[in-house]
Amino acid sequence: MKYILIIPDGMGDVPVKSLGGKTPLEAAHTPNMDYFAAHGVVGLTQNIPKGFIPGTDIGSMSVFGYDPAKYFTGRGPLEAAVHGIRLGPGDLAFRCNLVTLEKDKLKDFSADHVSLKEARSLISAFDRLVQKKFKGKVRFYPGKGTGYRHLAIFANAGSALSKVKCTPPHDIMGKPFEKYLPKDKDALFLNELMVLSRDFLSRHLLNQKRIEKGKGPANSIWLWGQGFPPDFPTYGKRFGLRGGVITAVDLLKGIAIHAGLRVIRVPGVTGYFDTNYVGKALYAVNFLKKNDFVVIHVEATDEAGHIGDAQLKIKAIEDVDKLVLGTLRERMNGLGDYKVLLLPDHFTCVATRTHSSDPVPFLAYSSANKKTGPEKFSEKSAKKSRLMVKEGHRLMELFVGGSLA
Ligand SMILES: [Zn+2]
Repeated sequence: MKYILIIPDGMGDVPVKSLGGKTPLEAAHTPNMDYFAAHGVVGLTQNIPKGFIPGTDIGSMSVFGYDPAKYFTGRGPLEAAVHGIRLGPGDLAFRCNLVTLEKDKLKDFSADHVSLKEARSLISAFDRLVQKKFKGKVRFYPGKGTGYRHLAIFANAGSALSKVKCTPPHDIMGKPFEKYLPKDKDALFLNELMVLSRDFLSRHLLNQKRIEKGKGPANSIWLWGQGFPPDFPTYGKRFGLRGGVITAVDLLKGIAIHAGLRVIRVPGVTGYFDTNYVGKALYAVNFLKKNDFVVIHVEATDEAGHIGDAQLKIKAIEDVDKLVLGTLRERMNGLGDYKVLLLPDHFTCVATRTHSSDPVPFLAYSSANKKTGPEKFSEKSAKKSRLMVKEGHRLMELFVGGSLA
C-alpha cells in the first residue's frame, strides 16, 4: 500500500457573498476530489487546538500527525533544520525577519522584497558586528530561500527567553512597532539587538542605494517564533513508513526533516500560482516506486486567500484538482493499491484575508477499499457526514491504521 497526503494550504473557507454564498471549494470544478470523496470517506477535523494561533506551523503539525501541544516548540527551530543547522539542546532559534520601519511604523515585514543577495550581505555584516560586541552569545544566519527570512541562534539560552512574547511582523503591518516589541524583563537583550540593527542597517550603503532607487530599506531585524529544538518521533518509528515531502515552504521542509522524511526537490516549485503542479505529481509517483509515503503541499490556495480574491482561489483549487490529482490518478494506475488523504492545514478566508481556526474538511480514499461518500467534496459535505476527528493530529493515525478508508 502506498500513502499520499495532499495539503492545499488554507483551502478551507466560509461562504463568500460574490460566489452566491458558496465557498471557493464548493464553487470550484473538482472532478478528481469529488471522485475520491464519492468512493471514500469525508469528515471534519480540528487542526488548531484551543489556545493556539491558526498558523501553518500548528495546522501542518496536526496534519502530519504530531500533537502541537506536545511537539511544537517554535517556528525558528523548524526552519533551522532546513538550513542544515544542528541545534544543541540549549540553543534557542529565532526567526529573524529583515523588515522596513518607517518613522514609528512597521511598514513591511518583507523589507519591500529585499533580494536574497542584498539580504545575505546585510545579515552577514550585522553578524560580524554582533560577534565583535557579544562574542558568540548569539549568531545570525542568512537565509537561503527568500530575502527577508533569516535565523538567529542564542547559545545556552535560558527558558525565560524562550517564553518571551514576540509578535510575528506580518501581523502588525502599518502599526506602531514600539507597541509590539517584547516587554518582558528577559527581553532586554532582544530589544538591544533590534535597536543595534536599526542603527547599523539604516546607515548601510546597500540600504542607501535601495532608498535612491525608490525601494524600502531593510533597516531593522525583527526577532520572533523562537524555540528550542523539538523532539519528534520519526515516521519510521511511528508508522513504519519511509517517505518524503514536496513543498516550496521552509516550515514544511523543517517539519519533514524532524519527522525523518526526505525533502524531495522538484524543479519549478515556487509556492505561488505559477508552481509546477504536474511536476509535483510526477515526482511524487516516481518517489513512491521505492517508498511508502509522499506529501504534496501546495501554497497557492493560501496565497489566494490572503490576497482576498475568490476567483483566484477557485483557480488554485482547480489547478490542484486537475494538475496534481488528475496526474496522480493517471500515473498511479498500474502501480498497485494506494490511499489518498487530502485536507488543508487551516482556513484562509477570502473575506477576511486571514487564517481561521475552523475545523477543516478532509477526504480519505483507498483504491483497495472503495466506499460510498458524497458526490462533492466541500466544507458542507464534510460537515454533513457527521464524522469529526476532534484532535487533528489523530487523523494520520486513523488514516494509516486503516480505520478511515
Ligand atoms: Zn497554512
